[in-house]
Amino acid sequence: MLFEDLSLSKSIQKAVFEQGYTVPTPIQEQAIPLVLAGRDLVGCAQTGTGKTAAFAIPIIHQLHRIVGSSKKAKQIRALVVTPTRELAVQIGQNFDDYGKYTNLTQLTIFGGVSQNPQVDALKNGVDILIATPGRLLDLHKQGFIDLDHLHTLVLDEADQMLDMGFVNDVKKIVKLTPKNRQTLFFSATMPIAIRELAEMFLTDPETVTV
Ligand code: AMP
Repeated sequence: MLFEDLSLSKSIQKAVFEQGYTVPTPIQEQAIPLVLAGRDLVGCAQTGTGKTAAFAIPIIHQLHRIVGSSKKAKQIRALVVTPTRELAVQIGQNFDDYGKYTNLTQLTIFGGVSQNPQVDALKNGVDILIATPGRLLDLHKQGFIDLDHLHTLVLDEADQMLDMGFVNDVKKIVKLTPKNRQTLFFSATMPIAIRELAEMFLTDPETVTV
C-alpha cells in the first residue's frame, strides 16, 4: 500500500510526500482507515513505529474537511494528551509537518515554563491542542481551555501516564470532553490496568497491534 491509496486530501499527501514517506508503516496502514471511519481505536505500538503519524495524519484530514477555510472562531477540535514535554514537542512538530498546507492551527502546552505565551496562543484560537496532563488541567481550571467542541481525543503513551501517576488527571481530562467524541488510545504495553482504562474511555474500539 502507498500513502496515495489512503484517500487523503491533496494538501496532506503533499506534506507527507515532502517528509519523504511513500509507504505507510504497519500501524499507519491499519489505523488511518479506522480513524477516518470515525472508529475508536486501541493502538498497541511503541515509539519508532510511526504511531504519531498514525493518529496525526487522519486527524488533520478530518479537521481539514470540517474546518476547511471557515472563518468562524477556532475551537479545540482535537486534543492529544501525552506524559512528557519532550513527547508533546515531538508530536507538535509532527502536526506542523503534516498540516503545513492546511489552515489548521495548533498549540503545544506543558508545565515548567511560563503559562503566559500559552494563554495568549489559546486566546488566538487553536484547532489542535497537544498537552501534558498537569498544565492542561491547570489552564482549564483558569478558564482558558474549552473542550466542549472536541471531535477527537488522543491518549498517547497510556502506560507511561499510568507509571508517572497521571491516571487521575487523565480521568479528569476525559470527563471534560464530550461523550460523543472519538477516542484514540495508544500504549506500548497492555497490562490489565491499561486495558481497564481503555474499556472505561472507549466505545466499541478496534484494536491494532504492531
Ligand atoms: P514515531 O513512532 O511516531 O515516533 O515515528 C518514528 C519515526 O518514523 C519518526 O521520525 C517519523 O518521522 C518516521 N516515520 C513515520 N512514518 C513514516 C513512514 N510512513 N515512512 C518513513 N518514516 C516514517
